[in-house]
Amino acid sequence: MKYLSSLKNEDLAGKICLLRIDFNIEKAELAGAKNHPRLALVLPTIKFLIKNGAKVIILSHRGRPLEKSKIKNQKSKLQFKIQKELSLRPFVKILSSLLKKPVHFIDFKNGFNALEISKIIARNSIFLLENLRYFEGEEKNDKNFAKRLASLGDFFVNDAFSVSHRANASVAAITEFLPSYAGFQLEKEIKNLSIAIKKPLVVILGGAKISDKIGLLKNFMAEADYFLIGGGMAHNFLLAQGLPIGNSIFEEKTIGFAKKMLKNRKVILPADYVIKDRKILDIGPKTLEKYSEIIKNVKTIIWNGPMGYFENPKFAKGSEEIAKAIMANKKAFSIIGGGETVELMSNVKCQKSKVFLSTGGGAMLEYLAGKKMPGIEALNK
Ligand code: ADP
Ligand code: MG
Repeated sequence: MKYLSSLKNEDLAGKICLLRIDFNIEKAELAGAKNHPRLALVLPTIKFLIKNGAKVIILSHRGRPLEKSKIKNQKSKLQFKIQKELSLRPFVKILSSLLKKPVHFIDFKNGFNALEISKIIARNSIFLLENLRYFEGEEKNDKNFAKRLASLGDFFVNDAFSVSHRANASVAAITEFLPSYAGFQLEKEIKNLSIAIKKPLVVILGGAKISDKIGLLKNFMAEADYFLIGGGMAHNFLLAQGLPIGNSIFEEKTIGFAKKMLKNRKVILPADYVIKDRKILDIGPKTLEKYSEIIKNVKTIIWNGPMGYFENPKFAKGSEEIAKAIMANKKAFSIIGGGETVELMSNVKCQKSKVFLSTGGGAMLEYLAGKKMPGIEALNK
């Protein structure tokens, strides 16, 4: 793999870099996006490129805009009206204030017009392209779309570990058309997540993207000694046991899998919960005690997914206490990842040396389980 960190001023000056990063931040989080770790962690890459005289065109996506628009219009490729909430435009202001430099937005008003875009690029230095998932080619890893994107720049940098498990045009196919490098954060991710896992290993799983992640339990079956389940993930296990969950979040399609997992003695479920308005919103004190005891005695800890609805401080205790238990185990190497999981860590004092904060949730779990990731494989070619 080639790393951006190996490039020098003479390699970069006057060149145009297409930089893939991950701005997939929920609308509710936009107000605090300036301090969002996902942004903070990629700033060094952007600053390095600018300092060395390169122009930077930032590529990113947000949400699944076409999924929504398809309901309204089967054929349409571009649906601006109903997707305003998934525009990347709000990031222009956030980025320019973080970088203290003007950032220009390229909005695809006339579709993807490379000539028009290159005229804008000639005049300025830092650009943000509108949500790439407005184009069908992005998620289809379409070569033609990748080629059109590639025509805008001289080289490509991937600094979006959290989307590198997806075969998308701006992550995978684009590398066929440009010299391609791993950015600073991706380099860190690869180095830290390639550690040899020492036993005992505990995998802590929570969060809301249940179906995306529950299947990854399988990948750690042999290696992990304990799975501690919390957050929305636990609700699927309750349903699998035939227990009621009121109005709590769950995802239908993985209940069958949860049923199979119930028989596995490594899988440990919460003993109590914090409930409000018929919703389970956090794990309870008995659970915390039990989980902390296990965390205390392991050598490796992998955590993805909050233990509860931590955005409301009333339900943040479960996640914060788990974070504290992890910090208290000074012998273990801990890997904590996921968009929201890392966000909640900004409230916890973190001794950096034995804790690695990964920007990936699903991506981190796949990488650790040794799965081949299209975005990383593409850089290895
Ligand atoms: P990550 O981004 O860290 O990979 P997810 O995206 O899977 O994690 O899930 C994060 C979200 O899960 C958070 O917004 C949190 O509020 C939510 N969550 C966790 N537990 C619950 C719960 N019991 N009820 C509602 N939401 C929950
Ligand atoms: Mg998330």
